[in-house]
Amino acid sequence: MKEPLDSCTKCHRISKNLLDLKNIYTDYHNKPVQGVGSKDSSICIVGLAPGLHGANKTGIVFNGDFSGNILSYCLKSVGFIDPLEKDYPYITNSVKCYPPNNKPYISEVDNCSRFLKKEIFNMSKLRVIIALGKLSHLAVLKIYKLIPSKYIFQHGKIHKLLNNIILIDSYHCSKLNINTKRVTIQMLNNILFKAKQYKYKHD
Ligand code: SF4
Repeated sequence: MKEPLDSCTKCHRISKNLLDLKNIYTDYHNKPVQGVGSKDSSICIVGLAPGLHGANKTGIVFNGDFSGNILSYCLKSVGFIDPLEKDYPYITNSVKCYPPNNKPYISEVDNCSRFLKKEIFNMSKLRVIIALGKLSHLAVLKIYKLIPSKYIFQHGKIHKLLNNIILIDSYHCSKLNINTKRVTIQMLNNILFKAKQYKYKHD
């Protein structure tokens, strides 16, 4: 990988926007955001991108905003309490920088896939990837070089990837999706339960 994540400026639109944000939100992180959790875990959760006032502010994935609170609540509900435990899911985003209006271009997802690939391929005990949203689903397919038309995104659907690794699709736990009840806490918990069940079956 030519450029380290911390200093990556490959997406010109995103990088320019982050520079502008530095003048507006002077105490925000306003840089690429690393994943958190355990790389020894068998579960990896892949979100879309840092939220403007969430991870882009705090520098911690799924932290400081509505989506982060929901994900953290659901993880606790299914028994993932301590982020320092080696079984605690690794949590990251398809796009490591905040994209304008929280909407990355597909070319930006592609640009950032080298970082996602490195994270996922470094998880030696990986069994389950949970993709939050369709773009994250596509980002995961890309790193496994799988054809999207054969792996259609559908909430709750399980796709077999390679080497006993599965991909579970979920709607994103965004404020909009929760408020419109497109996805509920119970639906998200069910996804996490599925991931845990699969892990125990294959341990
Ligand atoms: S989104 Fe990813 S590829 Fe694009 S500038 Fe940020 S770290 Fe680099």
